[in-house]
Amino acid sequence: MLQTIGTLPVARKIAELRRTVADWRRNSETVALVPTMGALHAGHLALIAHARAHADRVIATIFVNPTQFGPNEDFTRYPRDEAGDAAKLAAASCDLLFAPDAAEMYPAGFATTVSAGPLAAPLCGRFRPGHFDGVATVVTKLLLQAHPHIACFGEKDYQQLQIIRRVARDLDIDCTIEGVPIVRESDGLAMSSRNAYLAPEERRIAPAMHRVLVDAVAQVARGTAPQEAAAAGSAALLQAGFDKVDYLEIVYAESLQPLGDQTRPGRAMAAARLGKTRLIDNEPVLPRGAR
Ligand code: AMP
Repeated sequence: MLQTIGTLPVARKIAELRRTVADWRRNSETVALVPTMGALHAGHLALIAHARAHADRVIATIFVNPTQFGPNEDFTRYPRDEAGDAAKLAAASCDLLFAPDAAEMYPAGFATTVSAGPLAAPLCGRFRPGHFDGVATVVTKLLLQAHPHIACFGEKDYQQLQIIRRVARDLDIDCTIEGVPIVRESDGLAMSSRNAYLAPEERRIAPAMHRVLVDAVAQVARGTAPQEAAAAGSAALLQAGFDKVDYLEIVYAESLQPLGDQTRPGRAMAAARLGKTRLIDNEPVLPRGAR
């Protein structure tokens, strides 16, 4: 018997997760996986809704993965609220929460990792060394543990989504990776568990990131060179009150290399710091013929 939090069944052990999924699969039910680090908000719940619409059974995972945090990042202070999260998942008709501890995911002697490859080199990869290897490793483990038919990831973490698609393809993981559009606050700020860190003055500045990205995309549509629009966007973020711009770049949506001829879809990508908080966001750039 699985433990429950409120009405939501919870698996702490990989064996419990496997047993539950095996029962579902034996009944010919399809299974969707939604990996998260918890502190759930409407962005996560959009992934659950997408999963609900595309599979018979929905599993959410909550695991604050230590290997994807750098030594000076926010692992210890990352927001954690398992009871609140479980209530939200139950209300969203999630069937199972998988919430292992670190020893279950990384037992003594753990030594094998997944290298995320060239998609991890640009953008956030330049500022968070090892981050995407940590993500690729934990997501690979979750996909092999849960063996879902589909797994849902947000476009909010666009580079992560592209890396996970590549990992699943390259390692022949039998699972369809689904991307889900970004859910925003009414003022345009992309929802994020890290928004809880923002002081009121920082929260006031934060929506500028989306405005600046939308403006950069509009400039490119009007004929400005992508690199020029990106440079203007970086300056606009500082002007709006961001303390440091890690990057604002316009890249091909698939390869994440600098956008050139605009015959293929692009993506305007940004990461910038407001005080101690690092925010990321992105916005699609339609290819010339589709504008
Ligand atoms: P996290 O808990 O931050 O690791 O995020 C778990 C999943 O939720 C990832 O696939 C994220 O891309 C996705 N996600 C986070 N915020 C949003 C958002 N505002 N809109 C859509 N998906 C999101």
